[in-house]
Amino acid sequence: MKNSSLHDRGVINRYRPYLPVTEETPVVSLNEGSTPLIHSPWLSEIVGRGSEVYIKYEGLNPTGSFKDRGMTVAVSKALERGARFVICASTGNTSAAAAAYAARGGLSCAVLLPHGKIASGKLLQAFLYGAKIISLRGNFDDALNIVRQFSENPDVEIVNSINPFRIEGQKTAAFEVVDVLGNAPSLHLLPVGNAGNITAHWRGYREYHSAGKCDTLPHMIGFQAFGSAPLVLGHIVEEPDTIASAIRIGNPASWKPALTAISESHGLIDTVTDAEIITAQVQLASKEGIFVEPASAASIAGLLKYFCKSPHNRHRSLLVEGARIVCTVTGHGLKDPHTPAAIGMHLIESEATLSSVSNILEMK
Ligand SMILES: *Cc1c(COP(=O)(O)O)cnc(C)c1O
Repeated sequence: MKNSSLHDRGVINRYRPYLPVTEETPVVSLNEGSTPLIHSPWLSEIVGRGSEVYIKYEGLNPTGSFKDRGMTVAVSKALERGARFVICASTGNTSAAAAAYAARGGLSCAVLLPHGKIASGKLLQAFLYGAKIISLRGNFDDALNIVRQFSENPDVEIVNSINPFRIEGQKTAAFEVVDVLGNAPSLHLLPVGNAGNITAHWRGYREYHSAGKCDTLPHMIGFQAFGSAPLVLGHIVEEPDTIASAIRIGNPASWKPALTAISESHGLIDTVTDAEIITAQVQLASKEGIFVEPASAASIAGLLKYFCKSPHNRHRSLLVEGARIVCTVTGHGLKDPHTPAAIGMHLIESEATLSSVSNILEMK
């Protein structure tokens, strides 16, 4: 007899009626989803107006980012139709998730990377999960072009952002927010790179609204890094530049649906600088104990920049009294080893004596 508390886990089992699966679909899951929605007294206080701010900590997914929600659906569907390989062009969290779910489903995984552009933390994950990692003498577009050419091959499933099952899985994050809060929040803030996640969240809220699970809808608020903000600028950015590598994208795959999500929800999209991102990352860790990678902190940086009692509060008019605000933080802080340098991390040297340590700690 199956124990339902053990088996009804992972986003496919929990949200089956809302996902493109059938009883025949083999479920490849690592119990992704069910990430904590953490109340933030610090942010609630500085936003004010009786608002309550919650942080959706997506870094607590099995491979450390929200990409797992989409990958469980994409890899399950690949297995269902008899694919034997999954392939993606990615230097980041997509490759980590693809490799893990491929391993779980007994599929081979290949990751194509532009030569020299290797993000070591995330790459290590892909390698350990058993992916073949191919370093191309070319740029990211070359890698994606080659990946796309596998679409004719029935043995291969492409799991880049162009795979529609990924957005389907990612919408479950919005379901979870409603399930916990009992309704939709009034604002939902997210970092935006390829813009799949903001698209997925809006789809999730709308579907839950149609199903009667919530009677309001949030304003969708996106933040791009200043040097990598095609949606804000309204044109492709040829050489996107930001410390936040997961949102360093000049030509987002989900450009149009993201703009639709923003306009239908009467939301907005704006920019935050690298300095604001790092400040938000450091403050979120030191004030609330939540460690996220730089890209993830863009939502917090945007909240601090535009919605607080500050001189730059140009979007504060969207804030109603007693608003419930959700900020998604997309990936775990341990993934990105470049942060210590950016924040000027330093250690305090001491003699190996109690008195020396006590002096440093100003304890008598
Ligand atoms: C993929 C990713 C993003 C960007 O999400 P999009 O759906 O591409 O907008 C942001 N943060 C992290 C940690 C990611 O892995």
